[in-house]
Formats: sequence, C-alpha cells, structure tokens
Amino acid sequence: MKLVVVGSVALDSVETPSGRHDDILGGSATYFSVYAGFFTPVNLVAVVGKDFPEEHLQFLKSRKINLDGLTVADGKTFRWSGKYLKGNLNEAITLDTQLNVFATFKPVIPKTFLDADLLFLANIDPEIQLNVLSQMQNVKFCACDTMNLWIQIKKEQLTKLIQKVDLLFLNDGEARQLSGEHNIVKAARGIQSMGAKRICIKRGEYGALLFQDSDVFHVPAYSLEEIEDPTGAGDTFAGGFMGTLARIGDLTPQTFRQALVQGSVMASFNVERFSLDRLKTLQESEILERFAAFKRMTQF
Ligand code: AMP
Repeated sequence: MKLVVVGSVALDSVETPSGRHDDILGGSATYFSVYAGFFTPVNLVAVVGKDFPEEHLQFLKSRKINLDGLTVADGKTFRWSGKYLKGNLNEAITLDTQLNVFATFKPVIPKTFLDADLLFLANIDPEIQLNVLSQMQNVKFCACDTMNLWIQIKKEQLTKLIQKVDLLFLNDGEARQLSGEHNIVKAARGIQSMGAKRICIKRGEYGALLFQDSDVFHVPAYSLEEIEDPTGAGDTFAGGFMGTLARIGDLTPQTFRQALVQGSVMASFNVERFSLDRLKTLQESEILERFAAFKRMTQF
C-alpha cells in the first residue's frame, strides 16, 4: 500500500541529561519517514526554508524518501527547542517553537501522491492536517498525531480532525489534557466519545495501548538501560506502525497488533542516540532480532 506523510521537517535544539545539541535534524515527518522507510517507500509533504542544510536533504534522499512534496520556501525552517529533565524522559518540555515557513504553508499534494492508500498526519497545525486529508482521493486508512500546543490553541480544529481519521496517536499527557480525565482508560473512553474511532496512547518507557470499541491491546516498551534522546519516539513509533501496514498490505486486527509491536521496536532504537543518529547504523537484522525479543519478552 502506498504511504504519504505530512508533518514538520525541523531544526531542533535539544537538551537531555546526556548532553545538548543545537540545530540538529528533527521534525515529526522526518522521524516518521526515515523509520517507516525501513518497511516501505515514503512520500513526504512538508516545507523547509532556504536555510535548510543541503546535507539533510541528501540524507533524506538517501533513505529513499520521495521529496516531490517538499517545498523549499523563502524564509526560515521550522525550529523547535526542548529539554528533558533527569528522571522524566517521558516528557519533553518545550522551550521555544518557531513555526517560520509553516506559519503560511498551504500544502499542494503532488498528483502522484493523491492515490495513496495510507496517510499519516504527523504532528503539525491541525488546519494543515485537515487540508491535506481533504485533498487525498483514495485513503483507506488515515492516522494522525498531535501535541499539547495544538490541544491548547486549536482544540476545535483538532476535534474535527479526530472525527475524520481512523487512528489517533497521543501520549498519556496529551490524552489527559484532551479528555480532562486523569485515569488513562477513562481518558481513552472520553476521546472515543468525542468521535475517535481508534486511539493509541503512548506511555514512553511503559509501552503503548490501542483502544478500539471495547477492546484494548497493550504493547510494552523495550527495556533499555540508557536513553540518550527521547525526541521523535512518538513519530518513529508511528513510522514503524504505518510502515508495517504498508508492507503487509492489509488492515486486519492481527496486522494492527503486529504493527504496534514494530512501532515499539523502532521507537526503542531511536531513543538510544541523539536526533536520527541511531538510524544511520541500524541494520535490518537488528530490527528482526528486537522484534523476536519482544515475542520472547511477552510470551507466557
Ligand atoms: P516527538 O518527540 O515524537 O513528539 O516529536 C519530536 C519532533 O516534533 C521534534 O523533532 C520537533 O521538531 C517536532 N515538533 C515539536 N513541536 C512541534 C509542533 N508544534 N508542530 C510540529 N512539530 C513539532
């Protein structure tokens, strides 16, 4: 199945207990694309500014990501700066967000992307997500992600969006914020009652839960001793998930379960190093081995 993603391509400045790095490659659509790219070709829709380094463009091309939908606009690239405190790597503290070229971005989907079966609306302004969804002609399964900023300032548009998609990805803090419920099951049920068909709540080191009707599926996180940089864990999770749907080519409950485990596998690699560094050495054999480790870990 053919996969399209829209979301941010960014320059991030990130501080974690392991160190600090400025202006490194980031963005929700970037993390998603390079990890989904292990399973399927990815068609990217996004915008960067003229200041976006050529080496990053070459890197994305080298991962076989189709950049026909990437606009290089006058102005500066989206920038995000955040930090994680020791003892709480599950929660990013946003220090600064500069939308820059995203503030006026009106995506035009290339004709060759319009027939895609799978669409991932990675974290970005829900108005841009809605715009992209409305242009697509053949989507069989659409998932979206979001964050606290959009829940806070664009709740109405976000609510409209979650009623249209097949799956909403959120982390536990965002699920609580959106629903007003602290208990995670009540939060999921609250979001279902807002019109969401399926919800995947990511809980960092505690794994993820998929809620559909009255069903719940729980996938653990791979237990790691060292986490360098949790940035992009949610996007790589979604990349593993959607990439697996594309590769298997069906939308059965069994495939959803397998895709969730693959999401957890991919996220566990990404957090081992800063930015997308872990991916640069990641081998297919390591992915297969970790997937098998998940099976061993959860069988009884
Ligand atoms: P994650 O850690 O998976 O939630 O996503 C991290 C990525 O999200 C970073 O690389 C940021 O560039 C990007 N990001 C942060 N804030 C925003 C925002 N408001 N809109 C779009 N992308 C964002």
